[in-house]
Amino acid sequence: MRPVCPPIRHFHCQLARVPQRRNLLTLAIETSCDDTSVAVLEKHKNNTATLHFHSKITSDNRSYRGVYPIAAHESHQKNIAGLVKEALQHLPPSGSERNGKTLSIRRENGNSARKIPDFITVTRGPGMRASLITGLDTAKGLAVAWQIPLLGVNHMQAHALTPRLVAALDGASLDLASDTRNLLGNVIHSKATGDITRGTEVGRSMEASPPFPFLTLLVSGGHTMLVHSKSLCDHEILASTTDIAVGDMLDKSARDVLPSSLLETAPDVMYGRVLETFALAQSDTKSPSFGGSASQGSSESLYGWKINTPYARSGPKGARSHLQSFSFSGIGSTAKRVVDQNPEMGEGERRHLARDIMRVAFEHLVSRVLLSLEAPETKNIRTLVVSGGVASNQYLKQVFRDALDREGYEDMTLVFPPPKYCTDNAAMIAWTGLEMYEAGWRTDLSAMALRKWAIDLKADDGGILGIDGWHNVAVH
Ligand code: AMP
Ligand code: ZN
Repeated sequence: MRPVCPPIRHFHCQLARVPQRRNLLTLAIETSCDDTSVAVLEKHKNNTATLHFHSKITSDNRSYRGVYPIAAHESHQKNIAGLVKEALQHLPPSGSERNGKTLSIRRENGNSARKIPDFITVTRGPGMRASLITGLDTAKGLAVAWQIPLLGVNHMQAHALTPRLVAALDGASLDLASDTRNLLGNVIHSKATGDITRGTEVGRSMEASPPFPFLTLLVSGGHTMLVHSKSLCDHEILASTTDIAVGDMLDKSARDVLPSSLLETAPDVMYGRVLETFALAQSDTKSPSFGGSASQGSSESLYGWKINTPYARSGPKGARSHLQSFSFSGIGSTAKRVVDQNPEMGEGERRHLARDIMRVAFEHLVSRVLLSLEAPETKNIRTLVVSGGVASNQYLKQVFRDALDREGYEDMTLVFPPPKYCTDNAAMIAWTGLEMYEAGWRTDLSAMALRKWAIDLKADDGGILGIDGWHNVAVH
């Protein structure tokens, strides 16, 4: 898509930041794929946040063995109004100290005065068009009815900002409970600094955390990209997949490798998760690579097959000639071929194959992180966030920590936000709305859903601020 409003591309989000003297409340809607999700999030003056409501309903795509756009669209249409209705019950009470608008909510024991959100946030793109439209139109309706601004935000920017949401939530819970509950998920420090997973105090600070710049590796069902987040709206894509996403490959490979009894009883179509459970279920002495720390590269298994590491040796500069590229389709097609050649394959060999698929994929992922860290612009970065559904994989965490330590990055902090905030969810959309709102951004009610919408400033569409429909209340 061409930039319709080019000058807006040059505004720097941080410069337009509007200081907030009060708490900010938003109701957020996410419908970009097959999850219908609604959240109510409040950001406090000290940058902590309270999640008053967060719920999602995922369309049942099991019979299609993958996300089916029509089923996803129907599920959004069926569920969005009910979720919003439920969310209203969780809006904070409208106390006398609040100067916002009040909504009277009907409850079993009479009416209750609730605060109307300061604005509505919704995913505007990228995603499946019909799904996005369901959420966007609902959001526009609420914004018009309540006479409040609309923020149509970028789904990928929201994934990149997720660790800042989680730190803010963690800060609020620490302030409220004074305990060490670890809402930040795993913050895994290197062995050199103690090899710990700890609760964190970062959310207490007045600045959002982690501060920019940081690196995010987004590993989901639809995306595989390494992003250098320099500021709220400036995210440079350092590497991305040239074929399919790692989660997509794991899902497809799982369908080839898993015993059919496991596939039939899977609770949803996140077969990658089932693949991990299957691979980890039993220790197998024939698999020394699993749980080991040294990089295995591509070595032949005891069963005679081998999965090649993508882009390992090709090109005159070896792996460096493909440092901006991930590739996963080769891993998936090798796994399929191995099973096709031996349809009666026993469970032990299937388990071994499942482990090797993950090992080669995760070593490939971390190889691009290590190559990117050699560049002058990134060499001082010491925070790597790994987010997206695949980031909940325990083996991936181990492969990353081991590889970073082995290559001299013991001081690199690895942040794995909790899975519920890594998969598609409305809380991350709400947080993105809050940060964009504070930077002065608002979305026109005429804004359309965007099937494609880059987050990189250098992309053809100009990235987050390159598209039409934004206006900034702080720069006029
Ligand atoms: P997302 O696209 O961020 O909603 O994440 C969904 C993707 O993550 C799907 O491809 C899942 O199969 C994958 N996934 C979820 N949990 C795991 C896991 N533990 N190991 C590997 N992949 C996973
Ligand atoms: Zn997503």
